[in-house]
Amino acid sequence: MSDETKEFLASLPELEEGRTYHFRCHPGIGCFNACCSDLTLVLTPYDILRMRRALHMGSVDFLCAHAVGHRDPGTHFPAFQLRMTDSENRACPFVTPQGCSIYADRPGACRMYPLGRATSPDGEGGVRERFFLVREDHCMGFHEDREWTGAAWKRDQGFEDYTASNDRYMQLLARVRETGRSVSDKLSHMAVLAMYKLDEFQKFITMMRLFDRLEVDEERQKAILTDEEACLDFAMDWFEVMLFEDETHLHDKGADNGSAE
Ligand code: SF4
Ligand code: SF4
Repeated sequence: MSDETKEFLASLPELEEGRTYHFRCHPGIGCFNACCSDLTLVLTPYDILRMRRALHMGSVDFLCAHAVGHRDPGTHFPAFQLRMTDSENRACPFVTPQGCSIYADRPGACRMYPLGRATSPDGEGGVRERFFLVREDHCMGFHEDREWTGAAWKRDQGFEDYTASNDRYMQLLARVRETGRSVSDKLSHMAVLAMYKLDEFQKFITMMRLFDRLEVDEERQKAILTDEEACLDFAMDWFEVMLFEDETHLHDKGADNGSAE
């Protein structure tokens, strides 16, 4: 999580565990779609995987059409935001009069809205999560009857599917930040390839014969080359090896880990 995001969440009221809020969003509400424009919407690797899959787009085409890339000023790690349209209100490219056209695969931040979610290590290898209420004046959903805890909202919105990958990614970023150093240009490019261009990364794995140098069992190898979710999981393992020589998630057999560093 970037410092800006942390600051933003810290400025919001926390929805403490067990506390509830009223909310319902539906096509009949007067503000329908009001929140789907002029956004700074950071996309995680898993968000991009889901959106691309829904749109049947290759990663290069998707990133060109729908993402704006930048590098974190401190770590130089790559990050992407959803590209809004050039319309007067900078609408999201996926909003339609009927709602979100990629609803089943909408990004995690859209799912959690009107909550923000922050995580921190729980000391036992997992994460502790906290929820914050984003109460914007234009949002009429808070006047509705349905009542939610943060955990119930997360479940209802299908965010559970995003948790493992997003939390792992956030931990990786936090680890990079803790080093106090920025990553090289080459590693930054590799991070884009491995985490945001999974279809290209699968080709790279084969071309560079990565599995000749890494200890990955055969079943997992097959999954990595055919299933982008397995490939993203591997990409994060591989990055931990390259950045920190940490083989906790993956046993590296040789000195060469496939990086061109
Ligand atoms: S502003 Fe609130 S109630 Fe209105 S569409 Fe967005 S989330 Fe739903
Ligand atoms: S992806 Fe869907 S839910 Fe998210 S801002 Fe765009 S239209 Fe709205």
